[in-house]
Amino acid sequence: MSTIPYTPPTYQSTGFNCPFCNAFAKQDWGAPQRSVSGGKYGADENFRICRCSRCEEFSIWISGKMVHPNIKTAPLPNPDLPDDIKKDYEEARCIANVSPRGATALLRLAIQKLCAHLGEKGKNINEDIASLVKKGLPVKIQQALDVVRVVGNNAVHPGQIDLNDKPEVANSLFGLINIITEIMITQPKHISEIYKNVIPDSQKDAIEKRDS
Ligand SMILES: [Zn+2]
Repeated sequence: MSTIPYTPPTYQSTGFNCPFCNAFAKQDWGAPQRSVSGGKYGADENFRICRCSRCEEFSIWISGKMVHPNIKTAPLPNPDLPDDIKKDYEEARCIANVSPRGATALLRLAIQKLCAHLGEKGKNINEDIASLVKKGLPVKIQQALDVVRVVGNNAVHPGQIDLNDKPEVANSLFGLINIITEIMITQPKHISEIYKNVIPDSQKDAIEKRDS
């Protein structure tokens, strides 16, 4: 099982994961007509509605921001993310729409905790990520973490709110946490299961002897 790609709802985008049915679906945009006490006042530039082609529900947008439904648009955590880190991740999901910078601060903290869970020291995130790269984490992920200032010269201290963080950073961090979990926890777990199920015990002894 791999991480399912998630495209968050964005203003005027013609396709994203629907806030009602969650499916990635085509989205059609329109402008609601203002009608008050029999008077008709046409459309307003600031108001937009968007219809999901799959479930046919309408989301409502004001000044480029989705105001209905008021839901968590960030992706769900990888089920293999340890429970205590999942709490930070869920809290970040709850506030991501209203406070993306607050969510980003929580997610940087979650990555630090994830490093500690993966056997790293959990003190210096640069060193921890470099060590995980030696253990098989793709270097591309390290580079992505540099861009969103989890590691590198411009890294922000985990848990600290940085006013320079752009809203998109939170969304990248949700994805990166899920990918790190997938590569460092989910995949090794599945490989162990396959190994356990398909290789007869006699052969396992021989392999273990060979590798010892
Ligand atoms: Zn839908």
